[in-house]
Amino acid sequence: MTVGVISHHKCNGHNMGEHHPESPKRMAAIQDQLISSGLEYVIRQYDATPIERKLISLAHDEKYIQHIFDNAPDKNDKDAIFRVDDDTCMNADSLPAALLSAGAAINAVDLVMGKTLRAVFCATRPPGHHAEYDKGMGFCFFNNIAIAAAYAKEKYQLARIAIVDFDVHHGNGTEDIISRASANNKAAGYLFCSTYQSPFYPFKTQESDTPPIINTPLPATCKGREFRAAISKHWLPALEQFKPQIIFISAGFDAHIEDEMSQISLTESDYRWVTDELKIIADQHSDGRIISMLEGGYALSALGRSVVEHIKGLIGN
Ligand SMILES: [Zn+2]
Repeated sequence: MTVGVISHHKCNGHNMGEHHPESPKRMAAIQDQLISSGLEYVIRQYDATPIERKLISLAHDEKYIQHIFDNAPDKNDKDAIFRVDDDTCMNADSLPAALLSAGAAINAVDLVMGKTLRAVFCATRPPGHHAEYDKGMGFCFFNNIAIAAAYAKEKYQLARIAIVDFDVHHGNGTEDIISRASANNKAAGYLFCSTYQSPFYPFKTQESDTPPIINTPLPATCKGREFRAAISKHWLPALEQFKPQIIFISAGFDAHIEDEMSQISLTESDYRWVTDELKIIADQHSDGRIISMLEGGYALSALGRSVVEHIKGLIGN
């Protein structure tokens, strides 16, 4: 099956400093591995288009959006920096990159819902899953996946949307936005499943097996076997019961054994396994519809190899 890959070279203009792990080199590492994977005959590449500002408010507070637009450095001010938190900042190219990253998620929804493709991977940055309703943090400004999920719901009237997140950090921003939507409307139609090292950044998460939030903490000693067991026990039954009409994946690869961001020791075969499992559910309940968004992953070689295995899983056999 052909899989779409959406990216944009302007995502590389966003640079938070020479030694910052969320670096433009991540995109090059992914592209290099994709080229050498020989998968080009089953991948269709797209350039992202910037999101319309009004769509960001599907998931974020208007005052927060205005705050970002007001403070993002102007494109003519190449030395200016706007700091969102201690390790998250914007340069003159960051806002255009953030609009492309969120725009890729919207493009992906239109491609999948328009039946052009059944699965799409968005290789863009900045990532999004730490961005809360009214607060950017943890390398994230806008919550790309929560915006896209709300867009899929509004434009295509989807009633059951699953978002799963296997980044090594909890997707606190996505939980915040989904929980607010679900509190305001009991039939909001979201299921959010997240695995993450615990205790670990952002240190604000409660374990939960109660929909719409399935929070599955993993110990620092976790290896592939325990990761697979946790997914099999906590995510897969909840997804089977929920019968999602589309599955969104916050695909962070920073739990890889080579990634110094965390202590968990996964390998690319674990990312292939979880993708295969999600594809089985998507094929059964969602007409195969899967949209995956890049989140973390900072060991460049491991990131590229893991993305290739993840995309092979989306392609299927
Ligand atoms: Zn992460």
